[in-house]
Amino acid sequence: MHELSVTQNILDIALRHAEQAGATRISVVNLTIGQLSSIIDDSVQFYWDIISKGTIAEGAKLVFKRIPTELLCLECEHHYKPGVDELACPDCGSTRIKVVAGMEFFLESIDVS
Ligand SMILES: [Zn+2]
Repeated sequence: MHELSVTQNILDIALRHAEQAGATRISVVNLTIGQLSSIIDDSVQFYWDIISKGTIAEGAKLVFKRIPTELLCLECEHHYKPGVDELACPDCGSTRIKVVAGMEFFLESIDVS
């Protein structure tokens, strides 16, 4: 659901950049996704294949780069990468935490020809 609108957004940006560069074809789209974001790679690819049809981005390969989650404890200011199911601070056990990295979702670059 959510993926359709973000994929549309990514496609719009990619097409605009390609147009500015005078490209005739987009071959690779590099995307950065934070581990904590709920974006599912397969869904993005699925929607991409549908909505890019008939554009110069049709058939482009999507490459996903995952950014690991990084948290900051607001109690003891410990900066850490959490485990899979454990987000609490490993030093003091606090759950008063701030997400420093891991929520990203953006278009990093495109390869055109
Ligand atoms: Zn702490």
